[in-house]
Amino acid sequence: MKSIRAIGCREALEHLFSYLDDQIRVMKRRELEQHLTRCPACSARLNFEQELKARLRQVGQPPIPKSFVKRIKRLLQDLKPE
Ligand SMILES: [Zn+2]
Repeated sequence: MKSIRAIGCREALEHLFSYLDDQIRVMKRRELEQHLTRCPACSARLNFEQELKARLRQVGQPPIPKSFVKRIKRLLQDLKPE
């Protein structure tokens, strides 16, 4: 069996949106899930996003616009690794 590649927080966050939308490949999902079990920060982030998504659905808001997602992704790319 292939071992699961360890990913960092940046990569995890990049895949978080795909994960939430169920548009993530199986391998990426495994990598992300493994990261989440080890990283409380990203795990909390995912919980927050899921909660937010559920709330938005409840009040009948349209899904998050693509332009917004792009902006977030750009912000993440601008983050300098420490
Ligand atoms: Zn993390």
